[in-house]
Amino acid sequence: MTYVVTDACIRCKYMDCVEVCPVDCFYEGENMLVINPSECIDCGVCEPECPAEAILPDTENGLEQWLELNAKYSAEWPNLTSKKDSPADADDFKDQEGKFEKYFSPEPGEGD
Ligand code: SF4
Ligand code: SF4
Repeated sequence: MTYVVTDACIRCKYMDCVEVCPVDCFYEGENMLVINPSECIDCGVCEPECPAEAILPDTENGLEQWLELNAKYSAEWPNLTSKKDSPADADDFKDQEGKFEKYFSPEPGEGD
C-alpha cells in the first residue's frame, strides 16, 4: 500500500506534508504535489498534516486514478523536501470540486 495525493491538493499546495515525510517521497508539479508510491513507507504522518485533506491511503475505494497519477508524475517531477510559500490564492481553491478537470497541469514544479 501507499498514500496518494488527490486533486484536493491542486492549486492549494500548502506543503505541510513535505516537512513531516521521513523518506522525502514528495515530488512537485506546477500546481500540486504527488507521492512516489514505491518510496512511501506508509507511515501515515502526512495525512493529518494536509489542510486540504488531499492525502489518502490507497486502501480506500476509488483511488486508482490518483495512484496512477502519483506513480506517473513522481517519476517526472523534481523531489521536494522542505516547505515553500503556498500560492497567495490557495484558500480560494480549497474545497472546490472538479479541480483535476479544471486546473491540473502536467508541468513540473521547481523542487528543492
Ligand atoms: S499539504 Fe496537502 S495541499 Fe499541501 S501540498 Fe501537501 S498534499 Fe498538497
Ligand atoms: S505516508 Fe509517510 S512515507 Fe508516505 S508520503 Fe506520507 S509521510 Fe511520506
